[in-house]
Amino acid sequence: MPRPPALSPSRAGDFQQCPLLFRYRTVDRLPEAPSAAATLGTLVHAVLEKLYDLPPRERTVGAAQDRLEPQWRAMLEKQPDLAELHADASAEAAWLADGRARLATYFELENPQRLEPAGREEFVELQLEDGPLLRGIIDRIDIAPDGSIRIVDYKTGKTPDPRYGEKKERFQMRFYALVVERLRARRPALLQLLFLKDGGRLEIRPTGDDIARIEHEIREIWAEITAAAEAGRFRTRRSALCGWCSFQAQCPEFGGTELPLDPDAVERALGVRPATA
Ligand code: SF4
Repeated sequence: MPRPPALSPSRAGDFQQCPLLFRYRTVDRLPEAPSAAATLGTLVHAVLEKLYDLPPRERTVGAAQDRLEPQWRAMLEKQPDLAELHADASAEAAWLADGRARLATYFELENPQRLEPAGREEFVELQLEDGPLLRGIIDRIDIAPDGSIRIVDYKTGKTPDPRYGEKKERFQMRFYALVVERLRARRPALLQLLFLKDGGRLEIRPTGDDIARIEHEIREIWAEITAAAEAGRFRTRRSALCGWCSFQAQCPEFGGTELPLDPDAVERALGVRPATA
């Protein structure tokens, strides 16, 4: 059975970046070539998740690094086209070495022998009253003996410059804080992002105002998404990020032709049918 339409932090981020990008990803579900950076993120996340299957004393940096390559081979078996990410064996070896370095950095930030996560890669869903269904996957949830909740997210990139970045990361963490607070009837005490490229850490202690603001922001984004869907019009929003967009060939900003909109696909993805359809 298809899942009902929902909003995740990355979908909301796509729409804020560019409504047409959002449409191509969420409504048209156009295929995108996997990137080496994103795949490294998936791989390192999988290793860190499984690390906690080991008894605490065996959670060493060597044990994590030893699991990287077998995990990569398992990913390749499921998705053989990932082999195209690397031009040759030495490029693949350098990429795996980057992955091992990320894992070593993780151990500088935390001691997994002292942690017993309450949730790993936890799928969460929350229906906002008179609003969207919120959905996401939380890398890790820790619960202290006194019941305090900590939400942890791993990033394989570097710490964003607070002058220009962080907005996306803060949005994502506050989004999860709202969802966890409603699901567990307790506000998370700490939201923690760990940046495994340079060992940076971003911590947020969410307040009631933060939660109220993020709920308001999410409702506004959802209202804009449904308005675009009803109008059958997803505008372009050109920015420096267009350089990383997979859809320039279908984007009028770059001389491409916008693909015709399929009203059924809009309804399936967003639960709203364009008024013109
Ligand atoms: S190239 Fe830029 S403007 Fe065009 S769809 Fe992608 S993000 Fe939007």
